[in-house]
Amino acid sequence: MKNKRIYLDYAATTPVDPQVALTMQHFLTLDGVFANPASKHTDGEQAALAIEAAREPIAQSIGATSKNIIFTSGATEANNLALKGITEFYQRSGRHIITCQTEHKSILNSCAHLEKQGFEITYLPVNHNGLIDLSALSSAIKSETLLISIALVNNETGVIQDLAAISRIAKSQGIYLHTDATQALGKCVIDVDALGVDCLSLSAHKAYGPKGIGALYVRQQPRVRLTAQIDGGEQQQGLRGGTLPTHQIVAFGQACQLINDQFAAEQSHIEALQRRLVMGLQAIGECIIHAQTAPRVNHILNISFIGVDSDALMILTPELALATGSACTSGSIEPSHVLMAMAIESMLALGAIRLSFGRFTTIADVDQALVVLARAVNKIRSITPAGNL
Ligand code: PMP
Repeated sequence: MKNKRIYLDYAATTPVDPQVALTMQHFLTLDGVFANPASKHTDGEQAALAIEAAREPIAQSIGATSKNIIFTSGATEANNLALKGITEFYQRSGRHIITCQTEHKSILNSCAHLEKQGFEITYLPVNHNGLIDLSALSSAIKSETLLISIALVNNETGVIQDLAAISRIAKSQGIYLHTDATQALGKCVIDVDALGVDCLSLSAHKAYGPKGIGALYVRQQPRVRLTAQIDGGEQQQGLRGGTLPTHQIVAFGQACQLINDQFAAEQSHIEALQRRLVMGLQAIGECIIHAQTAPRVNHILNISFIGVDSDALMILTPELALATGSACTSGSIEPSHVLMAMAIESMLALGAIRLSFGRFTTIADVDQALVVLARAVNKIRSITPAGNL
């Protein structure tokens, strides 16, 4: 029998839930609700109503009220809008931004862009567990500091930063706080008030929705203002031009509804998968789990097998979909910037692989993946002269 492929790259993207895919179809064709939601006829109004309805479960999944959501093409755009939009609007109040060295490239490169515009950026370091030091954050604050942007969950390691504590520091100094919660949606409880964030980025395709749709939550009280980064029609109160993609928004809404409805059950499924995977990896031997003792989400494991190169491992495990580094930078042979910032020794960082799993991963998948990994690791170790890696 042909071996089944096992998908262990849920942090790069998730499959669309079949229920969501089915709903989405209805919002595409002539026999469904396909009209432009800005059109004033009944068909358009139906589409607009469907979009309004979709806001509810999305907002609920982050503890927000539904008016506070700006739809974007994904988290990259939401991050760009938050960083560039806030700094453009409030630039007279300060031109210093604090972020962290382990952020996603959409944050780091937005900051690099702002640096060229004359903003000063502080990239906070992290400790060996991937966590920022709160006293270093406090010390980095200046009278010019306008915005802090720190991801809730890191996409490579799954490390959860203490956003509530970061928020207390930010608020005590009147500084805006943005978080990239792309990897947190459906994986840990998100409550914009408990976290104390002003803006929060989301992406549907990390949570069983389609690619190409995301959102930026923007706090209304006290009101946070942004300058639009995409000029167009008056859609979304002029904050983001462009015809709203009803099918994607409705699908995003349904994906969030599923998350809200089955959060506890899904967490226990993923926890069970993680426990089994960790036990199996330890049985293979000399496996290091990065940020092992940090608060982490359960669906991401970033590991290195001592003496095993990740490219060799990928070649010997064609039946597994794994990631080395983050999916967005996998064309690069540089060690991951996240692991380097955590001061992981460079050979271990170069050998790191990310296993990420989710709703449709089964215990049988985990067991089969462990067999494949054990075979590959043992083979590499048997042919690699000791000390060569
Ligand atoms: N932030 C994080 C933490 C991510 O993991 C990703 C996806 N790799 C993004 C932002 C970008 O999301 P999107 O693909 O929706 O643009």
